[in-house]
Amino acid sequence: MEKVDLIILGAGPGGYRAAEYAAKQGLKVVVFEGSEVGGTCLNVGCIPTKTYVHSATFAEARERMATVVAQLRQGVEGILSHPNITLVRENGVFTDAHTVGDYTADNIIIATGSETKWLPIKGKDDPRVVDSTGLLNLETQPKRLAIIGAGVIGMEFASVFNRFGTEVTVIEYLKECLPALDSDIAKRLRKYLEKQGITFKMKTAVEDIAAIDADVVLMATGRKPRTEGLGLEAIGVNLAPNGAIPVDDNYQIVNGQWPNGKCYAIGDVNGKQMLAHAAEMQAIHAVNQIIGKKDGIDFSIMPAAIFTQPEAACVGPTEDLLKEQGLAYECKKSFWRANGKAMAMNETEGLLKLFVSPDGLILGCHAYGAHSADIIQEVSVLMCKHTTMAELADMVHIHPTLSEILKSAVD
Ligand code: FAD
Repeated sequence: MEKVDLIILGAGPGGYRAAEYAAKQGLKVVVFEGSEVGGTCLNVGCIPTKTYVHSATFAEARERMATVVAQLRQGVEGILSHPNITLVRENGVFTDAHTVGDYTADNIIIATGSETKWLPIKGKDDPRVVDSTGLLNLETQPKRLAIIGAGVIGMEFASVFNRFGTEVTVIEYLKECLPALDSDIAKRLRKYLEKQGITFKMKTAVEDIAAIDADVVLMATGRKPRTEGLGLEAIGVNLAPNGAIPVDDNYQIVNGQWPNGKCYAIGDVNGKQMLAHAAEMQAIHAVNQIIGKKDGIDFSIMPAAIFTQPEAACVGPTEDLLKEQGLAYECKKSFWRANGKAMAMNETEGLLKLFVSPDGLILGCHAYGAHSADIIQEVSVLMCKHTTMAELADMVHIHPTLSEILKSAVD
């Protein structure tokens, strides 16, 4: 049994970032990964889907996806070849609270990610039914695609396949798509995509797959933490009702048997914020806890984007939530159609809503429109720095750029 400083289970964005950072701090690290390095994000998530978004045809998307994924995977292999890191190419299983495989450590990070949540709908074993990974593996473009679920994954694929010329129908149980997005913005985006040819069946529950008239059916009804086979029961970890590993604000597991050491669960497996950049920042924070270093990461400011065309993005609460909580706020709006760069780009569809407190602080911002993720990123930085409206009004923005859409909301 070899003793090391840190054992990490999983080499997705959470796991490989934790390994890279810990190794640079001088810790001896062992990473277990039973599949390709890079995790869901690199192999079957963020990166392949975004190569689809930026390809003109299905055939081009498939070709580019393979090249881009292979290149980035090589980059992660490079990161994990650091002399302080040992990569064990198998799944890790706890044999006791400090031991995984042939290694033992006081500190352990579980970063095993998530997997598709299959709804128990009648006919779900129909060969036409695929999850996001199955859809990315299709070799021929479907003529008709039905998508169950209008969340982020469903909406991104709907937008992409509609652009490729596939007939797309989205079926959603709720009244609006993208529940984490401001409902006004979500509705406008859905209406715009409807005009582009996507059919939406809202407030509709799928009861039997056999009733769906399509060549391929994408199950996009969410993801669940991946914990099976880790041996957590044996070391006293009780999962939350949603299957996540329960953690505190420092991502340390709140139950289990770690009298002399620490065990963390970061990324999708803790079910908190299922985003690649959240996993990476949680990784840094967990390692900082291990080495006793203070950091100023504010996990309450977590920007997110939806890569439809045009894209949508948000940071902070929706207007609906602000109303529900009875918080005082002002909503400042700005439109893509009034922006010179957007007009020049022929990308005039879009709206930004900025929510401001009575003392001028930014509470949140939700938007859809070309490159809205970049604009929301600026808002996130301003929120991290507690910038006021008056200070933002004094900041010069390049003309002509889409960033002036944010500036106009303030002016
Ligand atoms: P993962 O990336 O899932 O990595 C976990 C790793 O652990 C895997 O490699 C797995 O093989 C390994 N593993 C599992 N069990 C074990 C074990 N017992 N021992 C060792 N290793 C194990 N997020 C964004 O921020 N932006 C996007 O645009 C975006 N697009 C997405 C598109 C799709 C289609 C999907 C499915 C997801 C998307 N996501 C996106 C979400 C993003 O992929 C995840 O939030 C991110 O991958 C989580 O990282 P992670 O490290 O927690 O887990």
